[in-house]
Amino acid sequence: MLDTTIRTAVLTPGSRCTYCGGPAGSVDHRIPACQGGTDDLENLVPACVPCNESKGGKTPDQWRESRLRAGKSWPPQWSLEQIRQDNNRQRRYAEHQRAERVRLFSGSRMRKLREGRKMPQEVLAQRTGFSLADIQSWEDGTSRPSVDQISRLSRILWARLDRFLASESLGERS
Ligand SMILES: [Zn+2]
Repeated sequence: MLDTTIRTAVLTPGSRCTYCGGPAGSVDHRIPACQGGTDDLENLVPACVPCNESKGGKTPDQWRESRLRAGKSWPPQWSLEQIRQDNNRQRRYAEHQRAERVRLFSGSRMRKLREGRKMPQEVLAQRTGFSLADIQSWEDGTSRPSVDQISRLSRILWARLDRFLASESLGERS
C-alpha cells in the first residue's frame, strides 16, 4: 500500500483518470512495480479502478496493444456507474487496510526495530518530529500511532511498514 501522503498528493479531490478521463479512485504506477517502476511521484498517476485493474502489470503501451489486439476499446470506456462503484469499493478497502494497520501495530516490535538501529528514543523523536512522550507510549502499548505516523517511523527506521505489525498480519501482501 502506498504511503498515504503520496496517495493524497496524486489523488487530489476531483482528479480524473489519466487513461479514460473518468473520476479517479486509485493511484496507478505507470511503469508497474513488477517491471521496475518505483513509488516516485513521476511514476504515479491518478486512475479509475477499472482502468487500473485492466492495466494490471503492463506499461501503458503494452496495455494499449493488448486491448487493441483483443478488439477492446481504446481509450478504455467504462460506464460512469461502474467506475463509481469500483472506486467506492477501492476506497472502502483502503480505509479498512488503514484501520487494520493501526489495530495491529505492535509497540514491542517498534522498540526492537529502534534498538536494532541503536537509536535512542530521544534521537528517534528528533528525527521524526514526534514527541518523546508519544514514542514512549507507543512502545509501551498505551497508545497507537496513526497510519501516517507508522509510515514515517518506517522511513526513519528503514524498515518495511509491516514489520511494525503484530505477527497476525505477516504474509499479507503489499
Ligand atoms: Zn479510467
